[in-house]
Amino acid sequence: MSPRHHLDAATLVSHAAGALSPEMSAVVALHLAGCAECRASLARADAIGGVLVEQQHPAHAQGAQHARLRDAMLARLDEPAPQPAAPANADGDPDRLPAPLHPYFGASWRALKWRWMGPGMHYIRTLGPSGGTMLLLRIGPGRRMPVHGHQGSELTQIVRGAYDDALGHFAAGDVADLDADTEHQPVTAPGEACICVSALDAPLRFPGWFARRLQPLFGI
Ligand SMILES: [Zn+2]
Repeated sequence: MSPRHHLDAATLVSHAAGALSPEMSAVVALHLAGCAECRASLARADAIGGVLVEQQHPAHAQGAQHARLRDAMLARLDEPAPQPAAPANADGDPDRLPAPLHPYFGASWRALKWRWMGPGMHYIRTLGPSGGTMLLLRIGPGRRMPVHGHQGSELTQIVRGAYDDALGHFAAGDVADLDADTEHQPVTAPGEACICVSALDAPLRFPGWFARRLQPLFGI
């Protein structure tokens, strides 16, 4: 089934311009592998990403002109485009993690070393090459997550299972590319654990919901 929740245009353009961290790019690659719609958008973003890089040189344009150019480029991403064929599935081994996750978590589901986070909740956290955090979460079926906000740079791809929140139903293949101020409370679907992977840009930063719980304690 085709994903219903996609990368937003700004993320695709940043990816095309090479401006995302390796961790963010890994989550983007994971989504792209299963989403013809975002691959088509990326093809357009590739064409304009170079122009965005040009814009970063102040000599090329003034601020207001930057904004107009950027808006025009983002608008172009909303135009329909032919959908390229999906890439062939490299292998059908059910124990094999998706390739973009191998540098962070290895290649085998069975070999994963899950850590306990709470009732029915497990996680694995690794630091990426740029110091960003990759977080693999496994939430049991029918669980209600704590209400949490999202800090500036968090990108979450659903790998298995599903959850629902105020933004809709997120199933395997969907990506949650959320604004910084979005607050939500996912409830995992019954029957199957929900596994998702999040890229967090800043090092040593807890996921949004965890940080929020700590804020009153530390006055941050
Ligand atoms: Zn997509």
